[in-house]
Amino acid sequence: MKSEFFKRTKIVVTLGPATEKAETIKELIKAGANVFRLNTSHGTMEYHREKIRLIKETASKMGIFVATMVDLQGPKIRIGNLKKEIEIKNGDTLVLAHSLEQTDENIIPVDYAGIANDVSANSRVLIDDGKLEIVVDKVEDNKVYATVTNGGILKSRKGLNIPGSTASLDAVTPKDVEFIKFAVEEHADLIALSFVRQKEDVLLAKKYINDFDSTIPVISKLEKPDAIRNLSEIVSVSDGIMVARGDLGIELSPVEVPTCQKLIIEEANKQRKPVIVATQMLESMINEPIPTRAESSDVANAILDGTDAVMLSGETSVGKFAIEAVRMMSKIAMNTENSCFYKFDTDKELDNEKALTRQAIVFGADKMLKYVNAKAILSFSHFGYSTRLMSKLKPSAPVIMVSDLEETCRKMTLAWGVYPFYKKWDGIVDTNLLLKIDEFLINEVGLKANDYVVITGSAPRLISGRTNFVRVHKIGT
Ligand code: PGA
Ligand code: MN
Repeated sequence: MKSEFFKRTKIVVTLGPATEKAETIKELIKAGANVFRLNTSHGTMEYHREKIRLIKETASKMGIFVATMVDLQGPKIRIGNLKKEIEIKNGDTLVLAHSLEQTDENIIPVDYAGIANDVSANSRVLIDDGKLEIVVDKVEDNKVYATVTNGGILKSRKGLNIPGSTASLDAVTPKDVEFIKFAVEEHADLIALSFVRQKEDVLLAKKYINDFDSTIPVISKLEKPDAIRNLSEIVSVSDGIMVARGDLGIELSPVEVPTCQKLIIEEANKQRKPVIVATQMLESMINEPIPTRAESSDVANAILDGTDAVMLSGETSVGKFAIEAVRMMSKIAMNTENSCFYKFDTDKELDNEKALTRQAIVFGADKMLKYVNAKAILSFSHFGYSTRLMSKLKPSAPVIMVSDLEETCRKMTLAWGVYPFYKKWDGIVDTNLLLKIDEFLINEVGLKANDYVVITGSAPRLISGRTNFVRVHKIGT
């Protein structure tokens, strides 16, 4: 079997100034990147358009599938443009008001029109990922008066969080709608939705996507206390979940992040939805060539918690060691997956009538695989639904997916242990089928004669029907 099938955990890489060249993208893919995230909080639409095209072009030249994920900024409040950086000291009084630009030396602009309505006396406001903290004294004349409790340097465009407030901002902002249109136009594979609070937020995003005649899957970013309260409902309407630890650590507290991570992963796994653990995983690699031991442990522990994917943010968008960070993550993933600690109880029933047949097939395939010590599962799939169910059982052999849709191949790069291949094989359920499959498994997957594989698919149409068969096959027989 070729070595490229050995890493099962998927890696999401945030593209940025440090990694935007074709040559670097190629190296990131070689190092183990499976999904590229475009963070729309930064950069213009034209920048992202150029980059998404470059990612697609680079991957296609390499003959490899990767997914592109457009990450919507969502209702994130930011400091407006300041005339210059301001040093704020504990005990100072600040005045904040809605504006995009600073026009008055004594007033800090905030890009959110509802700022004065969403806070009241004693509200805590955190700025720049929680590095700075102020506490509101009073709100008067649409101005917020606050005392600095954690000083530092205040810079333009930094994020601002009001923990616990259900901001009156829309879940999908006008800017997000523009980027949904962009994602559809550019055939992005995944859309990430920031600051999801309830299932209606996800349904609203899906409605917009649908209005543009698309069905791009939605990954809900869980980074608000409300989202944790509504976890099960949000997971049920989402196509995937992200544990967005950066904002979660501000909106809750860093203390609660580890247990929230476990809770979210457990729920996503129960509902068979892909889950990504994100933010600060190898943070020190922004400046250093090797991670701290705490960081390598963090990546390994997220994988042991049962996540499907791990993500890099600043490490790859602005870091000095972007390629090394992906390589390091791949190595940690493989070492963890091959350890004796990596075992899961995936036999739990899926509470979904509609998935009954497919679920029976994938449970069967997982058992048969162990019985014959099969080298791979060959999963024929049109939209990837049954392959995803297979992936969620974390089977002990790689899942080689064959689909007749390139779109499915790209989006399934996020699924744990799944390796997509594009083949127009729907009509070949005849006597030549196994010959053709053997040729493929030997030449493209690197298996050998007499290796066992477990095959799932559908008959009479191999790919585009509903998965209804599972069989054991010995190559060459
Ligand atoms: P962001 O989301 O990087 O888009 O803020 C991830 C997080 O908050 O952890
Ligand atoms: Mn976030």
